[in-house]
Amino acid sequence: MIIDGKQISEDIKQEVKAEAEKLKAERGITPGLAFILVGENPASQSYVKSKGKACEEIGFYSVTEKLPATVSEHDVLEMIRGFNNDPKIHGILTQLPLPAHISEQKVIETILPEKDVDGFHPVNVGRMLIGLKGFLPCTPAGIWELLKRSSINPAGKHVVIVGRSNIVGKPVAAILMQKKEWANAIVTVAHTAAPDISYYTKQADILIAAVGKARAITAEMVKPGAVVIDVGINKIADASTKTGFRTVGDVDFERVKDIASAITPVPKGVGPMTIAMLMVNTLRAARGNVYYSRAGQTAPEMYQAS
Ligand code: NAP
Repeated sequence: MIIDGKQISEDIKQEVKAEAEKLKAERGITPGLAFILVGENPASQSYVKSKGKACEEIGFYSVTEKLPATVSEHDVLEMIRGFNNDPKIHGILTQLPLPAHISEQKVIETILPEKDVDGFHPVNVGRMLIGLKGFLPCTPAGIWELLKRSSINPAGKHVVIVGRSNIVGKPVAAILMQKKEWANAIVTVAHTAAPDISYYTKQADILIAAVGKARAITAEMVKPGAVVIDVGINKIADASTKTGFRTVGDVDFERVKDIASAITPVPKGVGPMTIAMLMVNTLRAARGNVYYSRAGQTAPEMYQAS
């Protein structure tokens, strides 16, 4: 099975759109998302553009503030504080990476946890780790949702994650190890300290590659029948394309697809899910009460703020 992240992400965006229309009709609230883009990094520009386009498609209000790479840390933090106090804005996203003179951690911690739709604030990271409600980071949440919507239940399965970054590897591990439905996995996190990474990958029932190296996971490293989730986005030279490059994942898709029971392609796998889950988080932020239950909510579980 090729897991169609593009289609699943479109389904989610349609659901979010319908929920947002209800929110507008019932409570007069339009979900609002503020993007802060610092500098001219082409990948960051393209990500922010795609996220803004998704907002437009589903009827969210969004604003993008573009700042020069020379902007001071103070000015970025002041802008965040302004959005923290802006009632039209429910989610704030400062596109990373930032120039070296701006502390990413300070930026993340200045965003109010209840507007931290990226799920990077220590409050949300901590709540995720101990299994409390909050914002899950978008890519790990997208991976989880891909598994659920493909009827792949990680419970009791050995999930091996290659990569331990704060934005992918660690949070995926934290989510899938929870004693909860559609989680409850036995999780191994592997990284560069492993003398032989394939020793771990070959044991995976579900293998999640978040390595950042083109085709680092080869067919020999995968157990036949495993589910393979490829998070990687790597540009490689390809003279046959107009741009001279193309995007591949961390997995050798062409060979691994023949032995895996299910696999995500790159592009159109995990990538589009990240944006869809950002929309889900923003909707939840707009509903309010992100951390605690509120009686009488009728929205489907995934879109409830509580
Ligand atoms: P990262 O911060 O560079 O982390 C990479 C991790 O992989 C590190 O933990 C590193 O180990 C480990 N690693 C690297 N080479 C390895 C090897 N040969 N053997 C074993 N472990 C190895 O990357 P990231 O931010 O997690 O991103 C990973 C990939 O996902 C990138 O291609 C990125 O572009 C992509 N990504 C995609 C999305 C999306 O929306 N689809 C979102 C985020 C990231 P050490 O910790 O020991 O250095």
